[in-house]
Amino acid sequence: MKKHILVIPGDGIGQEVVAVSKQVVEKIGQKFGHEFSFDYALIGHAAIEATGNPLPDETIEKSKASDAILFGAVGHPKYDNDPSAKVRPEQGLLGIRKALGLYANLRPIKLFDELLGASSIRPEVLKGADILFFRELTGDIYFGEKGRKDNGNTAYDIAQYSRYEVERIARKAFEAARTRSKKLCSVDKANVLETSRLWREVVQAMASEYPDVTVEHQFVDSMAMLLIKDPRRFDVVLTANLFGDILTDEASQIAGSMGMLASASIGDTVGLYEPIHGSAHDITGKGLANPLASILSAALMFEISFGLKAESEAIVSAVDGVLKAGFRTRDIADTHTGPEKTLGTEAMGAEVLRRI
Ligand code: NAD
Repeated sequence: MKKHILVIPGDGIGQEVVAVSKQVVEKIGQKFGHEFSFDYALIGHAAIEATGNPLPDETIEKSKASDAILFGAVGHPKYDNDPSAKVRPEQGLLGIRKALGLYANLRPIKLFDELLGASSIRPEVLKGADILFFRELTGDIYFGEKGRKDNGNTAYDIAQYSRYEVERIARKAFEAARTRSKKLCSVDKANVLETSRLWREVVQAMASEYPDVTVEHQFVDSMAMLLIKDPRRFDVVLTANLFGDILTDEASQIAGSMGMLASASIGDTVGLYEPIHGSAHDITGKGLANPLASILSAALMFEISFGLKAESEAIVSAVDGVLKAGFRTRDIADTHTGPEKTLGTEAMGAEVLRRI
């Protein structure tokens, strides 16, 4: 198979982890006899520095011309601490999601057995947890009108959803539930928010098309508690953009670390594959970043965009092998991990490559 992949490393540890996951993609190409060509593009702080624009037109053009995108992260402390900055790295990420129509963000939360001790949650609560989040990605409070009034003393962000936007993400979640344990939990705040009442109305109406799927509705505040109390209760979880953003960071603790969680952003065109973590400037340049979330994102790319299941499984089983052999990056180390098994970003990548 021949595929053209656009690599967008972005900022901070995005650059470090994507360098490793690209090697993994190349290795899969060699092993399975595929021909992958690569191109690079800028986004975020890196793009602002080079062009003044967090999302240059060239990045969108190259994205549209690719078969899939391997993405790192965006962000820089300079902007985090300057709320008045008009141009921000995150505009690049929101912009590319919108420009490519990437409305569905899939976030599998699966704990590798070897990492049971790495989470702050008790192992007996976690063992066997396997959740697939569907987070809506191009609507909600992130994309509505925002601004200031009263001489800057009042601020607003408008949350908005259309029936169509809820339906298309809900359909993906229902379809996925059918292929898994036929359970769907839809998260909202329908007791307070009008957007959530529309959300619930749409999901309830669609449920009759999927009589084999059991649908449960949870308010987001209660969900935040239940996710940690009893993660095994959930299978496919459907959320709006803001609730999904927060709940999946919380759920990263089920998988041990932010450094373990992969994601796929899909819509009607090209798919974008990225770890859920950000640019992590506290560890940038130190070789400490866990590359496994980015590597597992590449596995999702093989499965979802290219339909190459064996290739995807080869990556996941290599990651499993590395963890079984006791190797850890610092974020997933537990009390039993000796210094000789605590690896940096590149060494962890090398262990995965060796097993592929
Ligand atoms: P973050 O995800 O960058 O980091 C949170 C914590 O997790 C940090 O302590 C970090 O060291 C750790 N961590 C994250 N990924 C790790 C990895 N692979 N290996 C080991 N440890 C890891 O979130 P933050 O600190 O809230 O934000 C930092 C910047 O990233 C901000 O500018 C923010 O806007 C941006 N951000 C970008 C994205 C994205 O690009 N998708 C997502 C979230 C945050």
